[in-house]
Amino acid sequence: MSKANEPLLRPCGPDVGVEDLSAALAKTVARTTELMVDLEEKNEELARLNAELTAAKQGLEHMNERLKSVMEEKEEFLRTISHDMQAPARNISGHIDFVIKHGGPELSATVRERLDRIGANAHTLQDYVNELLNLSRLGRMGQPPEATDSGALAQAAIETLAAETERHGVEIVVPKPLPVVVCQPIRLRQVFQNLLDNAIKYRAADRRCRIEITAEVTPAGARFAVRDNGIGIPKDDQHKVFGVFYRVANKVTAGVDGKGVGLAAVKRIVETHGGEIWVDSEVGVGSVFSFTVPSRQPPPRDPHEELV
Ligand code: ADP
Repeated sequence: MSKANEPLLRPCGPDVGVEDLSAALAKTVARTTELMVDLEEKNEELARLNAELTAAKQGLEHMNERLKSVMEEKEEFLRTISHDMQAPARNISGHIDFVIKHGGPELSATVRERLDRIGANAHTLQDYVNELLNLSRLGRMGQPPEATDSGALAQAAIETLAAETERHGVEIVVPKPLPVVVCQPIRLRQVFQNLLDNAIKYRAADRRCRIEITAEVTPAGARFAVRDNGIGIPKDDQHKVFGVFYRVANKVTAGVDGKGVGLAAVKRIVETHGGEIWVDSEVGVGSVFSFTVPSRQPPPRDPHEELV
């Protein structure tokens, strides 16, 4: 038996004398004192650890506050700059269009050609500014989220892309019912639409485009995955594709219309809902875009009960 587990008093028989008893008592007192000192030391250690934990928690809270305020500043900057740039960009495009239209014979071919180029660039600038403004609006939740059948939203997104799907013989499958989630329906539909649109745009030329939408109900909410068998995204680009105006440099992307804003918008929507988004991809094999939508209600006991 270890020392710590030794009983403080042992049972004794009738032949035990007073001296024995007082020796046992003294031993017990000494042992109790020893244990109390030990307990006190442990208490002190606990108090020290508690103080450290409280300080660390306060530090974390402070950093969280700071991060929140930096994010808000960034949001505000994006909103202000895109809003303020919109009018001048529109103005420049308008004036150039006017000069080209009414300049008539006074303009030499070279000047006209230069003006055409400036006009095209001014329109591109205007488009980018509009995209930024739209993006800044996605950073706000707007309407309160509501319990929504994500399957119906995915279906609506699939139907919107029907013409594209038919033209390119794309197969979109949803093997199992998708769950009910708490979200802003219009926004979640936009997420599906952007991801499906990309899966079609960046399809591989040598095989039929196949897209699969799945979802898993987790204790934290739902995790969706949109899987394609397209051209894939190189490792180095995978975290960058969620950045604003980022496009992967390859032949397919170069031949496809886009501004590199779709995935930035998707990321903003997902994050505004408190979720996360990431991509797993292999060049020549395909990509899987996964995102989470946290539940704001207690998780269902049996995930299948929640399926619609
Ligand atoms: P856009 O499609 O307008 O260029 P996105 O922000 O939607 O902008 O996508 C950013 C870039 O990520 C695309 O230009 C493309 O290079 C790459 N990408 C997006 N989705 C896919 C996909 N499913 N397969 C391969 N590449 C993709």
